[in-house]
Amino acid sequence: MIERQHVWLGPETASFDEPCEACLLLRESLAAESLLVHGTLRPDADVGFTTCRRGHRIVMHRIARPLVLH
Ligand SMILES: [Zn+2]
Repeated sequence: MIERQHVWLGPETASFDEPCEACLLLRESLAAESLLVHGTLRPDADVGFTTCRRGHRIVMHRIARPLVLH
């Protein structure tokens, strides 16, 4: 079971639309467009949270510049 999903956003990316992986596992009961999760992350934020329409937690991470990877 998927507890949480993680989405990685590049330095210039403020939003994303991706399918929810947990919903993909249940997709026989869902229309394809309802799998998509739309999330936004402020340019100065390193991490953010959103949920899909079914309430699965999705964590958004800001990818820093390559030289400052931890
Ligand atoms: Zn979901």
